[in-house]
Amino acid sequence: MILYTTTFTTCECEHKQHETVVYFMRYHRIPNETVRRLPIYLRGLLSLREEGRKSISSRNLAEFLGYNPWQIRKDFSYFGGFGTRGIGYDVEKLIKQVKKILKIDTVHKVALVGVGNLGLAVLAYPGFKMYGFDIVAAFDSNPEKIGKKVTNIEIEDVSNLWMLKKRKIDLAIIAVPREAAQKIADALVKASIKGILNFSPCRIAVPKKVKVITIDIAMDLARLPYYMPASH
Ligand code: NAD
Repeated sequence: MILYTTTFTTCECEHKQHETVVYFMRYHRIPNETVRRLPIYLRGLLSLREEGRKSISSRNLAEFLGYNPWQIRKDFSYFGGFGTRGIGYDVEKLIKQVKKILKIDTVHKVALVGVGNLGLAVLAYPGFKMYGFDIVAAFDSNPEKIGKKVTNIEIEDVSNLWMLKKRKIDLAIIAVPREAAQKIADALVKASIKGILNFSPCRIAVPKKVKVITIDIAMDLARLPYYMPASH
């Protein structure tokens, strides 16, 4: 299906006379691989901005990110392409556009469930804010943890998960033991959570309207030796 959503943004770099960049979405469905690469592009662009770069050519951007220029151009072409011929990309503008596509141009409130070893590390990690994620609540079932404060967040009783909807929290991170994960996911769905990042090493079943991404470092590690050169 072809979907034409057209917005016009004017080039604000020193080459104002250059053509206006047209942003329109040609495709209804963007390949998952492209969506997976967008946060990687964003991370690179944020580093470039930190270094003070204002604009970058597509070749240099590709080199910086470690991708082929055609790959980046192809990925951006799904959204109409963002560069201006002969100039390349305006870093600030591209950051804004990629954030908009990923729907992280506004702050998302996030709840953490399970404040153990992993949960504590998640709470201590400052990097989520850069991508517009604010962990505003943490839950656990251990009475000894409930009421304690970690990084300014008071650990709440997990039986209060139902309150998430009222608090306008629509994302959650699960960091509980595997046996508890499905029950927690069910409670999160009931509380109208729309996206779950699951660290528990199991598949959790949720209705279609809820997106789950499971991260398992052990599984990633398990496929690493396959790619390693054989030692003799
Ligand atoms: P942990 O035992 O240190 O912490 C688990 C926490 O969950 C505890 O605070 C416990 O009180 C709480 N909890 C247990 N049942 C609960 C429930 N029903 N509701 C709310 N809280 C509950 O474990 P950990 O090392 O932090 O690991 C957490 C999860 O993450 C485990 O499933 C583990 O296998 C997984 N893990 C994943 C990765 C990864 O790469 N994805 C890495 C390490 C651990």
